[in-house]
Amino acid sequence: MTNKNLVDRSLKSVWHPCSQMKQYENLPLISIHRGKGIWLYDFNDKRYLDAISSWWVNLFGHTNSYINNAVLEQLEKLEHVMLAGFTHEPVVDLSERLTKLAPNGLNHCFYSSDGASAIEAALKMSFHFWHNNGQSKKNNFISLQNGYHGETLGALSVTDVPIFSKIYTPLLRKSIRIPTPDWRYAEEGELPKEYALRAANYLEKYLAKNHKVTAAFIIEPLVQGAVGMGMYHPDYLKYAREICSKYQVHLIADEIAVGFGRTGTMFACEQANITPDFLCLAKGLTSGYLPLSAVLTTKSIYRAFYHKDTKRAFLHSHTHSGNALACSAALATLDIFKQNKSIQANHTKIKYLNDISQPIASHNKVRNFRNCGMIWAFEVKNTDPSFSENFFQRSIDQGLLLRPLGNTVYFMPPYIINKKEMKFLVERTLRILDSY
Ligand SMILES: *Cc1c(COP(=O)(O)O)cnc(C)c1O
Repeated sequence: MTNKNLVDRSLKSVWHPCSQMKQYENLPLISIHRGKGIWLYDFNDKRYLDAISSWWVNLFGHTNSYINNAVLEQLEKLEHVMLAGFTHEPVVDLSERLTKLAPNGLNHCFYSSDGASAIEAALKMSFHFWHNNGQSKKNNFISLQNGYHGETLGALSVTDVPIFSKIYTPLLRKSIRIPTPDWRYAEEGELPKEYALRAANYLEKYLAKNHKVTAAFIIEPLVQGAVGMGMYHPDYLKYAREICSKYQVHLIADEIAVGFGRTGTMFACEQANITPDFLCLAKGLTSGYLPLSAVLTTKSIYRAFYHKDTKRAFLHSHTHSGNALACSAALATLDIFKQNKSIQANHTKIKYLNDISQPIASHNKVRNFRNCGMIWAFEVKNTDPSFSENFFQRSIDQGLLLRPLGNTVYFMPPYIINKKEMKFLVERTLRILDSY
């Protein structure tokens, strides 16, 4: 077992996130002593394959020596300086590199601390842009059914995951939900492409009526993560871009989970060849090392704030905006993408894991086996209300870190995963499935 003393101390003093603390009476808390590559090690040196990249952040393995060195080097120079009135090399380098990598036309980077705070910044910026443009009535946001954008109050207002949001309804701003393009909702025989068009028609219908009071439409491009890896056809993004442009509504692409190669391209928006008005990035940005997020936007939005009047400026701030250490981790992450040609290299891995996953796809307990880039997901036929905790426990016993979302089991491994580790992942997953 893991270090009992540390677990007891943790349960006395740490209030763990996304947890009913009482559950830890039965579901043991696992104390991790160290990490190396794709593996996490507990105090008895039992190892667990981190198949979900520690909540979707870790791209190149734990304690990656290249990123470690970059952060250590930065640590000797400057750990942090406020970004209002000051600048530093890592934040400038990172901004230049992000704007080059991102879809064309996103030229300005605004920094926050984490995913939710990037969403808050994008929502506020969108509203404020219309306000500066003399269109203050454009102050509503629309979002997708099953969308997830974080859990601070603004972000939660555009999040459609009742277990996280319902209780807080009195605190939230009303936001309109548009039917999801997730192909699992398509009718029998309807192709993902056809369903994408039908879903886009709902958006068009809504905006035709309400565009004058709508500031922005926010979406997770290609994969709706938190509600169970709902995947959809890239055409939906193309339609969404066209419709938003037609009705003068901003398109906010929340690539916090799907950015940095997760869907097979550097950014998911590339697959529809679109430029959103705002691109929100976090999670993989620092390869999971340090909290950092960015909102990229266009010259024309930036220009609407550029004025001698202070009130027209975007005064939003987070103390750790553009933290130098976090930027150095992000720069090292981008270096690795280039050195390893990761996007290309991943395609071989995607093919291999798809091939060896066929016994999972055809397992009699499995439905909807699907894949988008470095994300795999499937539903398990099981009616136990605590299936998720139970499956998690069985995966831990098998030396795997898998944390299902409801009945959806998913793999989102670090990109350094090799063939042997992919085999281990599939074999152990099959063992768990067979145990039900
Ligand atoms: C995780 C996530 C967020 C929130 O990011 P935090 O860093 O947890 O605040 C927002 N949007 C999407 C799509 C996410 O996956």
